[in-house]
Amino acid sequence: MAEMNGNSETQFQIPKIKFTKLFINGEFVDSVSGNTFETIDPRNEEVIARISEGDKEDIDLAVKAAREAFDNGPWPRLSAAERRRIMLKFADLIIENAEEIAALDAMDAGKLFVPVKNMDIPAAAEIIRYYAGAADKIHGTTLKMSREMQGYTLLEPIGVVGHIIPWNFPTQMFLMKVGPALAAGCTMIVKPAEQTPLSALYYAQLAKQAGVPDGVINVVTGFGSTAGAALCSHMDVDKISFTGSTEVGRLVMQAAALSNLKPVSLELGGKSPFIVFDDVDVDKVAPLALVGILFNKGEICVAGSRLFIQEGIYDKFVKKLEQMVKTWVVGDPFDPNSHQGPQVDKKQYERVLSYIEHGKREGAKLLTGGNALDRKGYFIEPTIFIDVEDDMKIAKEEIFGPVLAVMKFKTVEEVIKRANCTNYGLAAGVMTNNLNIANTVSRSIRAGVIWINCYFAFDPDCPYGGYKCSGFERDLGMEGLHKYLQVKSVATPIYNSPWL
Ligand code: NAD
Repeated sequence: MAEMNGNSETQFQIPKIKFTKLFINGEFVDSVSGNTFETIDPRNEEVIARISEGDKEDIDLAVKAAREAFDNGPWPRLSAAERRRIMLKFADLIIENAEEIAALDAMDAGKLFVPVKNMDIPAAAEIIRYYAGAADKIHGTTLKMSREMQGYTLLEPIGVVGHIIPWNFPTQMFLMKVGPALAAGCTMIVKPAEQTPLSALYYAQLAKQAGVPDGVINVVTGFGSTAGAALCSHMDVDKISFTGSTEVGRLVMQAAALSNLKPVSLELGGKSPFIVFDDVDVDKVAPLALVGILFNKGEICVAGSRLFIQEGIYDKFVKKLEQMVKTWVVGDPFDPNSHQGPQVDKKQYERVLSYIEHGKREGAKLLTGGNALDRKGYFIEPTIFIDVEDDMKIAKEEIFGPVLAVMKFKTVEEVIKRANCTNYGLAAGVMTNNLNIANTVSRSIRAGVIWINCYFAFDPDCPYGGYKCSGFERDLGMEGLHKYLQVKSVATPIYNSPWL
């Protein structure tokens, strides 16, 4: 499986941590309380650095800076072409510093260093370039009014945005939220996950270096129930863009409703079906199914965590999975031979292990894995349960770890029904060479993203988000830009006389 992780380098010097304070109004500052928290290296459970712990007072300061930058500062008033130029410079700086940033994400989140450096960060910089290219193409429409009026719409930036992001893709999450909001002319406060604050602080100073004015991007590191909650209920924040769990998504929406009724967008959890029909080439599709669950150690909201295999190829497919997983290396994310690093933190590690125990107790058959690695750090074996039943906990709940539930099915109608039998609706994979089946299944699955004969096919132009309890609104694509804009309608009589 060596080709799957994109690793090609062997030596790398782990950098010194440069940024550990809150970034407010263009400066790194201590938190008002002076408190700090530890960010832990999941490879060895050691402290990487102490980070300033923002709370309500710090959120107030950050919102004040963002408000001032929006109401009176240059960013929303700059020509769109100038915003584009600064964003393109930001993207170039990201690429120039990719190695150092990749090391921060590898240490903080246990992500594989080389693929992050060579693939994830360049792809995320492309998101900034995509939205830079959109910045000067934001315009409303001319209306066909029913009376002698001229009418048109303006698309205006929504204002001060609060971005709250999770730990599983610290780079992508930061840039996928910040990019479109910058292009729209918004100002913002980012609250990164407490597990992974390092790269967010790095990106904030790179944006300043590129020419983003002070107050436009503020980063308040800290915990969800304090800093995150204060951001959601702040009366001067105009929008919350949240990515995280369904459980916290509910709290975010509640806080927004009980404060100034700010709109929220929610990108939440998933339990995505990966459906394989009899007609596929098992040798080609099985590796995709395996990566579909094990990529990023299963810590990905769109993981294909429910694998439905049609009965004609079930045994052959399962055997292939078993063979392949033997060559899957769990180890240090800086080691180019590793395919899978440690889970992000102790809590997540224990949570995944407890789901594995549930699976064993519920009677699912363990094909492979099922244990933690006997070493320091939060490493878990890739774990595959077969002959899983739909009502088992491991088939119903989001595990967010390297744990696959494999199920057998007979007919197209049956698998559509079973795939949809979940509260989530984020993504689905459909593997078949039969066009009719591909069309029928993709239109019948209630999920925001369908990948036919591919998986994880992300693209800056491809909107991404959920149905049902997986949330609403979209990141990426032009939908990902429009959520940071609001529509103003302007009407005036065509002839020069006051008219009602
Ligand atoms: P989480 O919901 O616990 O935390 C996400 C963020 O919310 C963190 O920054 C956290 O500090 C903050 N937060 C926590 N409590 C808060 C509160 N009361 N008010 C405001 N903010 C609060 O999620 P997580 O454990 O960091 O991430 C894993 C979850 O994220 C999984 O469910 C996963 O599916 C989901 N996720 C979804 C997507 C998507 O695009 N749909 C992408 C990645 C992750």
